[in-house]
Amino acid sequence: MKQVARKMRAEGRVVGLVPTMGALHEGHLSLVRAAQQQCQPVVVSVFVNPKQFGPNEDFEKYPRPIEADRALLEGLQVPYMFVPPAAEMYPNGFRTSVSVEGLGERLEGRSRPGHFRGVTTIVLKLFEIVQPHFAYFGRKDAQQVRLIRQMARDLNLDTEIVVCPIVRDADGLALSSRNAYLKGDQRRAATVLYRALDAARHDIAGGERDAVRLAGVLRKKIEAEPLATADYVEIVDAETFEPVSRLRRACLALLAVFVGSTRLIDNMLVEEQGDSVSIAL
Ligand code: AMP
Repeated sequence: MKQVARKMRAEGRVVGLVPTMGALHEGHLSLVRAAQQQCQPVVVSVFVNPKQFGPNEDFEKYPRPIEADRALLEGLQVPYMFVPPAAEMYPNGFRTSVSVEGLGERLEGRSRPGHFRGVTTIVLKLFEIVQPHFAYFGRKDAQQVRLIRQMARDLNLDTEIVVCPIVRDADGLALSSRNAYLKGDQRRAATVLYRALDAARHDIAGGERDAVRLAGVLRKKIEAEPLATADYVEIVDAETFEPVSRLRRACLALLAVFVGSTRLIDNMLVEEQGDSVSIAL
């Protein structure tokens, strides 16, 4: 992969990278299409990164339909699918990690200790191997994108981070490889994340700016769904990821919810522009 990447750069081509853990769905494919608008070639990496899973998380059972992934990428005419073996990424004696201080300790970082250190470490390694001019990430993982942007800035990386919108199923559920774990009634219950955010959106459009009240609306919707349990419900400043009491500038409403034992996340971006407000769900 390094040899290919060096050659592409030397030829003056614009290299794009879409890092994934595979089990590709329309969310991933939207990143590929965005990359194809700007880059040639586009490289898609598929690596279920052991270092970003906690000891009691789903690393073992995480879906790995590698042939189906290959077919999807071939369908989009992606020339390079990079699927490194774990033993090559983390050979015996591997000792280095990258962590972004301060932004990764709350929310996902608090619920999943060590997760972001695993993410930033693998993303930096992938950037070093593929040397992309642009790398594409989904806003679905809003805190992850914020940390990766910070890492790119702090470490003077030669890769520009591009953030793409959340792709959802027709009923609003954000696409995720983990949705495959949802059985029977759980699939219907899982729409509670979208339903909660949509209710908050409705209130914001009606003029509500009190973040505490909006968080209450989110929490109430989730509590009304018997199969769901909130892990966290927060409204934070999109830059600092610290909680806010009123919406201002750019804020994110962030949700992590268990449906059965499946942990799902979702979010909504609210940006004030003068007197108007734009809401991305
Ligand atoms: P993953 O394979 O879950 O690590 O995700 C790989 C990339 O796809 C990450 O940048 C995710 O944010 C992005 N992604 C996952 N699901 C979606 C979605 N529903 N819409 C947009 N991007 C997504």
